[in-house]
Amino acid sequence: LVSAKWKVNPTVIDLGDDVKIGGGHFALMAGPCSIEGEENIMDTINLLKANDIKIMRGGVYKPRSSPYSFRGLGIDGLKLWHQLARENGIKIVSEVMQVSQIEAMHDYVDMFQVGARNTQNYNLLDELGRVDKPVMIKRGISGTIDELLHSAEYVFSGGNERLLLCERGIRTYEKASRNTFDINAIPILKEKSHLPVIADPSHGIGIRDHVGPVAMASAVAGADGIIFETHCRPEEAFSDGQQTLDFNEANQLIEKLRVLNSMA
Ligand code: PEP
Ligand code: MN
Repeated sequence: LVSAKWKVNPTVIDLGDDVKIGGGHFALMAGPCSIEGEENIMDTINLLKANDIKIMRGGVYKPRSSPYSFRGLGIDGLKLWHQLARENGIKIVSEVMQVSQIEAMHDYVDMFQVGARNTQNYNLLDELGRVDKPVMIKRGISGTIDELLHSAEYVFSGGNERLLLCERGIRTYEKASRNTFDINAIPILKEKSHLPVIADPSHGIGIRDHVGPVAMASAVAGADGIIFETHCRPEEAFSDGQQTLDFNEANQLIEKLRVLNSMA
């Protein structure tokens, strides 16, 4: 069902208020790795508004490699974020980690994110198949392209056709970067599926200075959108600061992507 053989025309995800992704609508999504509080939310919203970006990312449930790391503000953080985002015309994409969180989060997100650690959580995917909100599925940490497509098939066949695929890098023998961003996945996914393909260069390379080039390469490779981490003071970010752009760097990247897209 997610195959380009099944549906020839590209799927366009409509988040309402004229915010669309796919089928020629290129989308930028940016925000902190973790939602940290009111000031952090408002700083980010102001950055997005200044750049005419309509979608903010951020985790309130964080899958951390260590249980002692910051694990997110939870549903109260999401409610605060939702209120501030609504007031400012910003849409929300946030990770859902387990089935029990879906209902609580539902009214406060515009798009659910399935993280790389949950790409093959088939119970979660089944449940998201019954949800009336778009779902962005990230590629598994060691997942193949076909496995990502099969994960999408779970949600699609469950009845939710509003899906996006996200390349966020895979684990390889290479240690010089956090993950190995698989640029190949972008044209291959675009060929195999009608769903929009999003690139996450932040997790893809994991090194702040190199997020920009990978983002640009993804756009050239045909991505329908870029999701990246940004924070007012990345050194102080609660998570993933090492791969997070400061606002100056974010402004520059956004400008470069806009120029690139205007040439296409
Ligand atoms: C994130 O988006 O902050 C995240 C945890 O991503 P991933 O699931 O790709 O590691
Ligand atoms: Mn992160």
